[in-house]
Amino acid sequence: MAIALVTGASRGIGKATALHLAREGYTVAVNYHRNIEAATDVIKQIVDAGGKAFAVRADISDEAQVLAMFDRLDHEGEPLTALVNNAGILFEQSTIENLSAERINRVLTTNVTGYFLCCREAVKRMSFKHGGKGGAIVNVSSAASRLGAPGEYVDYAASKGAVDSLTTGLSLEVAAQGIRVNCVRPGLIYTDIHASGGEPGRVDRVKSLLPMQRGGQPEEVAQAIVWLLSEKASYVTGSFIELAGGK
Ligand code: NAD
Repeated sequence: MAIALVTGASRGIGKATALHLAREGYTVAVNYHRNIEAATDVIKQIVDAGGKAFAVRADISDEAQVLAMFDRLDHEGEPLTALVNNAGILFEQSTIENLSAERINRVLTTNVTGYFLCCREAVKRMSFKHGGKGGAIVNVSSAASRLGAPGEYVDYAASKGAVDSLTTGLSLEVAAQGIRVNCVRPGLIYTDIHASGGEPGRVDRVKSLLPMQRGGQPEEVAQAIVWLLSEKASYVTGSFIELAGGK
């Protein structure tokens, strides 16, 4: 048995991924930030279905908390072989004139620094160089990294552009160390992230612009993540899967 750590796993895409990974036989480390009740519910669903999971609290943008989370994993008695960098934030729609330094920094420290810190700690544990068994990392980026989200969230889009570059660079850096690093780029997926802002009807407007004329479900993203982590993708690294309804 091996551990899969999923950040931001108490809801949305992270929750769907955690449930799916448990069905694949991983012991799932369910990272959450604030909502212990939601994380506990995810663990209950996994355990009720015969799987294994435990909760690990950490704000991924805080280095000390990330170190404490990985320290906790080290004491579980199973190797960490999978990381899903999923936790992310998106603020309300804004043009560049109204983007505060505080907002930009918050988006970057969570969506970029947080991903870097978790990648760093995972590599230390998975790498052949450090006596690890190898492993796989999936970074959850966004279609926004390609499309730019003009007039809405260029800060968020830029943070996801950094995630794309992190994926490419790290995949090359650790390929010979037994670690694969890949990326998924979801488009409009029905989760709570859209509750944080946007004009009324935004989701329907965006949906109507998509070639497939619908948004996606968290499980549709989870399936791709689980495949990328699996042995079925054993020769896949540095790759990007678009999950954006054709956009
Ligand atoms: P969500 O808001 O439902 O889930 C995000 C999760 O991240 C939450 O559980 C939240 O608590 C957690 N989180 C936020 N900041 C954190 C922090 N500092 N430390 C630890 N956890 C933290 O949204 P979602 O749609 O499930 O988003 C998951 C990922 O998918 C994000 O990276 C998001 O950018 C990306 N994404 C989502 C969509 C979409 O349409 N839903 C599209 C493209 C990309």
